[in-house]
Amino acid sequence: MSKLFKRTKILATIGPATNSAELIESAIMAGVNGCRLNCSHGSDEERHQQIEWIRAAAAKKGRSVAILQDLQGPKIRLGMLQNNHLDVRAGDELILESDPSYEHDGSFTVPIQYNLASKVKPGEPLSIFDGKIHAIVLEVVSPTAIRIKIENDGFLMSKKGLNFPDTDFGGDILTDKDLADIAAGAEEDYDYVSLSFVQSASDIEKLRQILLAHGSTSRVIAKIETKKAISSYENLEAIVKASDGIMVARGDMAVEAGAEVVPIIQRKLIALCRAHGKLCIVATQMLSSMVDSPEPTRAEVSDVATAVIQGADTVMLSDETANGSYPIEAIKAMKKVILYTQNNSQITPINKPIEHATIYDAISNSAARLAEDIDADVIICQTASGATAYAIAAARPNLPIVSVTSNPRVANQLALIYANSAFVRPYSPEFGYDLAVELKESGYLKTKEGVKDLIAVIVSGDNDKSGTDTIRVRNI
Ligand code: PGA
Ligand code: MN
Repeated sequence: MSKLFKRTKILATIGPATNSAELIESAIMAGVNGCRLNCSHGSDEERHQQIEWIRAAAAKKGRSVAILQDLQGPKIRLGMLQNNHLDVRAGDELILESDPSYEHDGSFTVPIQYNLASKVKPGEPLSIFDGKIHAIVLEVVSPTAIRIKIENDGFLMSKKGLNFPDTDFGGDILTDKDLADIAAGAEEDYDYVSLSFVQSASDIEKLRQILLAHGSTSRVIAKIETKKAISSYENLEAIVKASDGIMVARGDMAVEAGAEVVPIIQRKLIALCRAHGKLCIVATQMLSSMVDSPEPTRAEVSDVATAVIQGADTVMLSDETANGSYPIEAIKAMKKVILYTQNNSQITPINKPIEHATIYDAISNSAARLAEDIDADVIICQTASGATAYAIAAARPNLPIVSVTSNPRVANQLALIYANSAFVRPYSPEFGYDLAVELKESGYLKTKEGVKDLIAVIVSGDNDKSGTDTIRVRNI
């Protein structure tokens, strides 16, 4: 039975290739647990519509689905170029001008959407167009413009992104656009908010304060993709601790730090998240050939399997579902790899948790081990805030975790957590047991072949008084 429940979750980016009620429903039916709405593209109105479609499809399937608002952060982009295109050669000098009223003369003054004059220093490197063009900052030429020198031949196109791996943004990475997106997002039904190009824990603390001020109940995810963020293990760990989860954002990380750095950081980050009981998403190019092809490459299959074995909570699809020709095929291919891998391999154990376990972590850990030792069918977790479910998932048991909460936001958030399926029911001291009975009767939870009873490990506590303090084994 548990062989059919995928424990590693799928987060799909919504875009033109999935932009309808029908396509979103197909995506969720095919195995999507969460949807990423990317603020770098599209409008508030489009996202509002997509949220309605996602909630309707999730309700139809009777399953919680997480919705993530992805903030662009200081993703600096070029403006519109004449004819959309500019050839450049090694040695060319360009002015990057952020004043929108400036009259562009075409060739060597290029419009840019962000004022870098007070941020960059001469000699700092930059890359443009996903690392295709490398350049160096020469000087700040006005309060709104800088001069750069191109280091290789190639071409630029309108709206392409720039990376400044060595530039310190001075703890001020939220742009005016991000602040507007946060305000608009607080009116919407988002479960998670992620921030791009995080450099330090204080970026996340600031975001959290702003979200709280807007009355948001979203959890916060740090996208790890800058050279600064990965500059030391201590900085990475501080970001992990300040966040509710992280995304291994391999696309920009490769541009900023070099592609060869990415696999090692991925492994470190997954282990850090598991040690601290935080959500870990592995993102970008997981099945990228499926943008144009109905079959993944062997290397891509291996990449997804590796993330599963390393113990990521969630694997993400980007262009595959946002712009590709085979979005539903990509989801199905990913699910197939996850199921086969989890059913034929153990998750790599991590070294002892970094922090001393609290009593409460120890109970969650014991419940997970107990359930495996007695070959239980399911762990049932009664949870108010989701914290117990996170803690049980952090032990990465090889069986499904069914969580029950009275809070729909918590249930949606748990949709991205390892092995969790969350259900919303009104609180009662026995609502875990009652749900197990209900799910057995409905056929959602099945007993082992030839066995009458379902074996459930139920983890609970008194909501108001004690917190999680009880593990019971029940035959249902
Ligand atoms: P993006 O983030 O797709 O928003 O750029 C992920 C990444 O950089 O890998
Ligand atoms: Mn990125």
